[in-house]
Amino acid sequence: MSLPLGFTGAWLDRADQLRTDAERFAAAAADPRARCLVLDGIDFVPGDGGGLSWEALDPADDRALMLLGIDDDAIPHFVREASLGARIDARSRTVMRLLPLLSGAEAALYGGARSLVDWHARHRFCAVCGLPTDLFRGGWGRRCGSCSAEHFPRVDPVVIMLAECDGRVLVGRQGGFPPGFFSALAGFVEPGESLEEAVARELWEEAGIRVSDVRYVASQPWPFPSSLMIGCRAVAKDPALTLDTTEIEAAMWVDKAEVRAALAGDMGAPFLAPPSLAIARHLLEDWAA
Ligand SMILES: [Zn+2]
Repeated sequence: MSLPLGFTGAWLDRADQLRTDAERFAAAAADPRARCLVLDGIDFVPGDGGGLSWEALDPADDRALMLLGIDDDAIPHFVREASLGARIDARSRTVMRLLPLLSGAEAALYGGARSLVDWHARHRFCAVCGLPTDLFRGGWGRRCGSCSAEHFPRVDPVVIMLAECDGRVLVGRQGGFPPGFFSALAGFVEPGESLEEAVARELWEEAGIRVSDVRYVASQPWPFPSSLMIGCRAVAKDPALTLDTTEIEAAMWVDKAEVRAALAGDMGAPFLAPPSLAIARHLLEDWAA
């Protein structure tokens, strides 16, 4: 991997020991050095220098605090739950155009905070009994005061993979992609299947190819809203494609020279490569290296 994976490398110690100790959590919140991440809904607000914005904890703000972690100087970093009625569209990617303003480590910290704040905003009520729930564990869970059920922020595993056949790999595009843009195929892991089985099923469903030798490559969070992208490779015996056009608008096999041209942004490349925040780009770089 030539570059760090997107949304990884946050610098804070998550400090689970503070989440579960009410006294120490209160002390962290009372620390005059404590900082709170400034969000607009779940989007970050760029600071003057272009990075994330932080502010002192406002004691008049009664929104619940979530502990993001502590830095090397033990300074606590928090984020607050979203206001009731705040405009939140977890699948909106308008924030994507602002992400280049952040360092990789800031994007990682923001991505986690975004997923967490978004999850709380969509899970105010108990999935068991339907009554309101409250934050606990320093903001890393919700507990129902009525039936005592505990609920934890979800992470949705998604397999994203390059099938390889005779020196070429398969890239595809969905209808909503920008013109010329192709990426690795991907899909959610379903209950009852391994990662290897999910890779094989998705490639069969979307492209009509049978694969074997599924191998894990790398993973990264994708906070839209809370996916964990699990990058894999697999080997296809037969390159004949049968596309599920409800999922995939087009797909093609590309060789290393074509992938390198796309990664370099060459005018003559057969497709536009995914951006560096996307693990698909790293899968292509890793394969073409
Ligand atoms: Zn309940």
